[in-house]
Amino acid sequence: MIQPFVYTAQPARVIFGDGTLARVPEEIARLGLRRVLTVSTPPQAGKAAALAARFPDRSAGVLAEAVMHTPVAVTEAAMRVVAERGADGLLALGGGSAIGLSKAIALRTGLPQIAVPTTYAGSEMTPVVGETRDGAKTTRSDPRILPTVVIYDVDLTMSLPPALSGTSGINAIAHAVEALYARDGNPVIALLALEAIGALHRALPRIVADPADRAARTEALYGAWLCGLCLGSVGMALHHKLCHTLGGRFGLPHAETHTAVLPHALAYNAPAIPDVMARLNAALGTGDAPLALYELAGRVGAERSLRALGMPGEEGEEEAGEATGDVIGGTVAAVLANPYWNPRPLEAPALRDLLSRAYRGLPPA
Ligand code: NAD
Repeated sequence: MIQPFVYTAQPARVIFGDGTLARVPEEIARLGLRRVLTVSTPPQAGKAAALAARFPDRSAGVLAEAVMHTPVAVTEAAMRVVAERGADGLLALGGGSAIGLSKAIALRTGLPQIAVPTTYAGSEMTPVVGETRDGAKTTRSDPRILPTVVIYDVDLTMSLPPALSGTSGINAIAHAVEALYARDGNPVIALLALEAIGALHRALPRIVADPADRAARTEALYGAWLCGLCLGSVGMALHHKLCHTLGGRFGLPHAETHTAVLPHALAYNAPAIPDVMARLNAALGTGDAPLALYELAGRVGAERSLRALGMPGEEGEEEAGEATGDVIGGTVAAVLANPYWNPRPLEAPALRDLLSRAYRGLPPA
């Protein structure tokens, strides 16, 4: 049965294909931009410079200083560069970190953005930026944050290392999974989410087996786009809350943490969302979606233990494979102190059990 819903489309122009990077200069001209600052991460500085060289008359140079979790200090330094160079537009090349810095600048300046994503994180499709100051992450949503144009070029993803392809792809799946049971979900987003989950579930093991498999890369990027649309359109729940809390408290890596937590968060919510579980099982071709996602993480070679990803424990207990009550209890308390809406009420003992299993890398229960 169709439940009442509200659906708000996010206005963005999306260009998808092979070799679409060549379209950047015409998109800059179409927007009437004259001084475009290209933003990226240090490892992608060379590619950013090569991209900026495609539009020399309209370039304000390259700023390859983006790092994960968008620290405010990096943004403030970037704001000085924007002012010095008189930039009137932003071009982000990279994953969620490069796009995050571009968004943080756009939030402060209103400058239009063109995003060229090179991972599957999906940030390019959302009007949201999470900024970090003194180890605490604050999320802001504002229409100015949404890129005006997004250019997906499969060529750029061919260099994404297999391990990062796997975890980045499961990070994307997490957006779609939570969109299926979002409080403000709707039938359009549910269709996109199921399509996206199926595409990534098929593509990721093929990419890890053969990183040069262009058809699999294309299907994964297509799925990642749809997952980003899901993330940008509806609210997220327990899974994203857990990952944001873990990332903020312990500095855990973004995509890897999503990969380790997702099966457990879904298993936690499963009793409250039987209809969603039936559709998800069908999309994954399984009778146990949380286990299928845990196995997918294994098939792509991802680390499934939060302990191995850097979540601290205490001596003795850590050696025995247990995080301490303090570490797990403190994380649960932080989740409960400022919770996101969730389809199943948040219960401290069950959340402790969830985190304890994820800490040890056990299958979801
Ligand atoms: P990332 O952007 O930090 O990229 C990871 C690493 O891979 C970097 O060193 C990068 O230089 C490299 N890399 C990226 N693409 C590559 C490619 N094609 N080939 C080779 N190397 C490549 O990681 P991410 O997972 O894409 O993004 C994580 C960040 O994005 C986090 O800060 C997260 O909070 C944020 N994020 C925000 C949203 C949102 O909607 N606001 C959504 C998703 C992620």
